Amino acid sequence: MAFTVPPLPYPFDALEPHIDAKTMEIHHDKHHGAYVTNLNKALEGQAELQSKSLDDLLKNLDAIPENIRQAVRNNAGGHWNHSLFWTQLKKGGGGEPKGDLAAAIKSTFGSFADFQAKLAAAGVGRFGSGWAWLLVKDGKLAIDSTPNQDTPISLKGKAVLGVDVWEHAYYLKYQNRRADYIAAWWNVVNWDSAAEQYAAARK
Ligand code: MN
Repeated sequence: MAFTVPPLPYPFDALEPHIDAKTMEIHHDKHHGAYVTNLNKALEGQAELQSKSLDDLLKNLDAIPENIRQAVRNNAGGHWNHSLFWTQLKKGGGGEPKGDLAAAIKSTFGSFADFQAKLAAAGVGRFGSGWAWLLVKDGKLAIDSTPNQDTPISLKGKAVLGVDVWEHAYYLKYQNRRADYIAAWWNVVNWDSAAEQYAAARK
């Protein structure tokens, strides 16, 4: 079955003024749309691969024929990353997490502010395009980043919270000021989504 773009779970302008409506529209419809289109194109005629889940494709990139491996890596990765990203944002989000995730962040990074500084640094420090992640690796919280559309699966980690630091995620409003975009992004983080990811990652 062909992969499809999940609908954005809120209107394009829901995250204003932190993330502008035009950026959300282009990002979701055009960029995410293109990853899905190109993934389906890469898998044309590959009945066995088409029947696999996105996770299975990304966990077994070495098993994918070499002539389509890079296309699958980029476009399945782009589909995976963005499908999570939209659910991790919401109108009136931000603040701090609660419960187990809050406690784990505090015990791992010292404080919520120290955690925020580290994740922001991972995003600003990612050269070129990519993602910064809070993830569970080897049973513990960690911060890391991935280039291009590589996912936390490539790090053998499980995503808790990810921030897209491709220029297409912020350039219309923030131009080259990636740090300002990340600072604004904190205001729309959906901590309920991160808490769900954290709970699933520990199972
Ligand atoms: Mn993106």
